[in-house]
Amino acid sequence: MFICHFCKKVSKPQIACKKIVTKSYMHQHPFRAKVQKKLGYDKNGRLKIDWIDDKGGRGVMIAQEVNSCTDCYNQYMREKQKSVVEADDNATRKT
Ligand SMILES: [Zn+2]
Repeated sequence: MFICHFCKKVSKPQIACKKIVTKSYMHQHPFRAKVQKKLGYDKNGRLKIDWIDDKGGRGVMIAQEVNSCTDCYNQYMREKQKSVVEADDNATRKT
């Protein structure tokens, strides 16, 4: 059970909760040496543990997300898609 962020209603039991990301940011993950465990077997068939490097890299971090019911989720996605289409229309008109 959860409380919808948009309509403030409490859901019925065993109704799936939709998560909507409202804030996110780009994040640079650093290189880390010998931090990930990789399991394998040696030539005698015994379990062998190798520690491998984490390459790091660039990714999106979620700063804030809200719970939503299915109706509010669908409405939010329709409005978001509409705003993206309008932004694309404005971009094509300028060029
Ligand atoms: Zn709702």
